[in-house]
Amino acid sequence: MPPEEGFVVTPYEVKGRIDYARLREQFGTEELGSDLVKRLARLARGPVHPLIGRGVYYSHRDLATVLDGFERGQPFFVYSGRGPSGPLHTAHLMQFELCRWFQERFGCEMYIQITDDEKAWARGIPSAETARWGRENLLDILALGFDRERTHVFFDTRSIRALYPLAVEVARRINFSTVKAVFGFRPSTNIGLIFYTALQTVPCFYPSWATGRTVPCLIPCGIDQDPHFRVTRDIAEGLGFPKPAILHSQMSIGLKGTQSISTTGPVEENAIFLNDRPEAVGRKIANAFTGGRATVEEQRRLGATPEVCSVWSMWRTKFAKDDREFDEITRDCRSGALLCGDCKARLTPRVQSFLTAHSERRERVRPWAESLIIESPPPGAAPPGGPNR
Ligand code: SF4
Repeated sequence: MPPEEGFVVTPYEVKGRIDYARLREQFGTEELGSDLVKRLARLARGPVHPLIGRGVYYSHRDLATVLDGFERGQPFFVYSGRGPSGPLHTAHLMQFELCRWFQERFGCEMYIQITDDEKAWARGIPSAETARWGRENLLDILALGFDRERTHVFFDTRSIRALYPLAVEVARRINFSTVKAVFGFRPSTNIGLIFYTALQTVPCFYPSWATGRTVPCLIPCGIDQDPHFRVTRDIAEGLGFPKPAILHSQMSIGLKGTQSISTTGPVEENAIFLNDRPEAVGRKIANAFTGGRATVEEQRRLGATPEVCSVWSMWRTKFAKDDREFDEITRDCRSGALLCGDCKARLTPRVQSFLTAHSERRERVRPWAESLIIESPPPGAAPPGGPNR
């Protein structure tokens, strides 16, 4: 099935069937090609993460530069974040799973930013509520198995003393017309959101500032988020820091068949949430949009289309136990050997067991999760930059 002619991808809106190669060209990013994937595998001393191997992460900015530094003995760190407004769904875990892989294979420090302030400003959710979801979401993220000695958390409303000295320097270099153009701000936008870009930028530079050494940053994120980090990249060198490198993923298909699991519209039935009960998981998968045919006979004869299927998207991004199983599902789907009902029946218990195991892991990190929150600036670190920087 060819992609539709028109599609729109911005940080706020995803419309139409996305042609990912064209989107990469539009954004001016580089392809994550086989040479770079092989290089990652060589440096990781093992296979790349399935999200890379299966082409979910498919585009980048400056990844090769970060790897050049790594080969010269310069460590890099990974950064990702969460705007807490409700429970996480399984697709939210993607970027964190890739970060965890980098931490394990490349020894990276991990910085997580919980932007409870931004969600209060952007959605009008009471601050107490965003803070509560922030604490809950943090447990889910840490439950993926991050090394607590190498993992650091900015929880915006609690970390402001640490964030603010750098945020001041960042904010003076970004003008209103830039954020207005990138984020679509209007006269009615509250002033918190206008300043927020500065806070979101700080973690990209914080380790360099805190240590007084150049520590490059790598950010895995959905390609729809690329415009946010272009602003950060534009000001990095003026502050004396390297531009953050970015690894872009394609979006997960929503259970209703949408091209991305929107976080702004009603999403309850469009994703599997980490706090879903087993019955809810069964119902959602049973009703999920697929790439199947109208009848069993047709599907047996013509095969189905995995690329548009929300169930295949879940196998691809998380639930296939290895590449062999994933390749087999894809092949049998295309050939018609696998029917959608059987495919869904196979996925459902896999997701249910994952959620059970995840909730146990989550309880194990609870006693120490908040000890990772950075609340003070690094001792002795001077504000970066001078008037001419
Ligand atoms: Fe999707 Fe599975 Fe049906 Fe293929 S067989 S279209 S992967 S539900």
